[in-house]
Amino acid sequence: MLFRLTRPLVGLAAILLAGAASAQAAEEVNVYSYRQPFLVKPLFDAFTAETGITVNTIFAEKGLIERMAQEGRNSPADVLLTVDIGRLTEAVKQGVTQPLESGVVNANIPEAWRDPAGHWFGLTRRARVVYASIDRVKQDSITYEELADPKWKGRICIRSGQHVYNLALIASMIVHHGVDEARTWLQGVKDNLARKPAGGDRQQVKGIYSGECDIAVANTYYMGKMQTNEENPEEKEWAASARILFPNSDDRGTHVNISGVVLAKYAPNRDNAVKLIEFLSSDEAQRIYAETNFEYPVKPGVPWSDRVKSWGEFKADTISLDRIAKARDAASKLVDEVRFNE
Ligand code: FE
Repeated sequence: MLFRLTRPLVGLAAILLAGAASAQAAEEVNVYSYRQPFLVKPLFDAFTAETGITVNTIFAEKGLIERMAQEGRNSPADVLLTVDIGRLTEAVKQGVTQPLESGVVNANIPEAWRDPAGHWFGLTRRARVVYASIDRVKQDSITYEELADPKWKGRICIRSGQHVYNLALIASMIVHHGVDEARTWLQGVKDNLARKPAGGDRQQVKGIYSGECDIAVANTYYMGKMQTNEENPEEKEWAASARILFPNSDDRGTHVNISGVVLAKYAPNRDNAVKLIEFLSSDEAQRIYAETNFEYPVKPGVPWSDRVKSWGEFKADTISLDRIAKARDAASKLVDEVRFNE
């Protein structure tokens, strides 16, 4: 899977014998991925089986966009896979992308989930929801606005306000209510926190299990990951202590973010990169995403996994991700202003 730094040396006879095979092996595509190996491997295996194109992958948790920028024209990257609208637009801002106009991709991915200029494409959706204690929270619906209500004082757990997931959520509040109202809201949420923001989304749900908080803010797919975690079975208990409430189901809908893909500006294997992006938007790949990572497909008509269905239907906020991306800097400022993380 990882880049081969040196090609294996093979004898002339072997080259002659394997002429056809080596010609095929030359077909490849290089992926820089913020998305984890367990998730993309089944997708790439299916792509290779269908096309014969080898997928070389570099994984990293950070720094890939910067790396592409530094490598410039010499970058081997053909595509970049990432989560969050913020990182997708960051790639565009850093100049490491090129626009793609593909009839296949545009037919598969609704306009709401791709860049109007063709620089980024959403591949999966995830909702940022409220996990509510099964024992201690009786209400069946909630709004983001309500998280600032004093009735939740000392009862809310959430990760750092500066994390990309929360910045997008806060940005959506700015887009809907304006900066001033969003600041008052964020201050109210801060005043209701059970503890200083720390850890990832799962740690917040653990807080419900341990009794530290009654509600936690986290992405939907973590419910599936915790429910099925055989390596850390205690996470199953964390998950079992909470249920998902989809905020604002009765009005504008729940805040949704995406994972997505960009075509690299200097993609050396551009044709294969386009084939890969088209494949990732296809029914087959969308179904793998849905089953492997408990996310919502972007392609209409592709079924949700049964586990995801069990959390209930929901209405998604249809505000454009482009507007959310543009409000991210203002969101980050608000987090500092109300000293959310302190
Ligand atoms: Fe995540």
